[in-house]
Amino acid sequence: SQAHDELRDLVRTIPDFPNPGIQFRDVTTLLLDPAGLRGTIDALVASVDGPVDLIAAIDARGFAVGGAMATAMGAGLMLIRKDGKLPGATIAEDYALEYGTDRLAVHVDACAPGARVLLVDDLIATGGTAMAAARLVERAGGRLVGARFVINLPDLGGSAKLREAGIEVRSLLEFE
Ligand code: IMP
Repeated sequence: SQAHDELRDLVRTIPDFPNPGIQFRDVTTLLLDPAGLRGTIDALVASVDGPVDLIAAIDARGFAVGGAMATAMGAGLMLIRKDGKLPGATIAEDYALEYGTDRLAVHVDACAPGARVLLVDDLIATGGTAMAAARLVERAGGRLVGARFVINLPDLGGSAKLREAGIEVRSLLEFE
């Protein structure tokens, strides 16, 4: 559709970032555009069927998208942060990067038992980040009802990995 193509055209592609050969899909240009931001949030909110108690947003661009979705949906906002940033007691999950590992954390008391949680990030590539975040939501006592991304890079396999784990996944835009 025209609306979809307009959102897609607002994503900037930066070659060789952060490493040679990587085509970085830059959503900052989409967020800068008032109609692009509104269109993105409206479409993601419209893609959610059932009730959601909490949006679990992933550090850092997921905070922008997930925060806007949470206010529009009347849900609360759970921040899944890079390790070392949260002041209270946390639980953490490691995940693999191309070289080495990284760690995400969430407050142990971030979630009421059985709360319906929707995972949100700007982009899914290999799915390592989202799978670690999904494990944190479940360890915190939440019930994951789905995951939403502005951009999916399906060739990298992350969306398929989440679906194999039984997670309902939707995204607005796809890139190679
Ligand atoms: P994954 O763990 O391989 O799925 O990578 C997804 C995470 O890395 C997300 O938190 C994204 O924000 C970030 N990321 C990976 N590739 C890109 C990209 O091309 N553009 C923007 N963010 C990216």
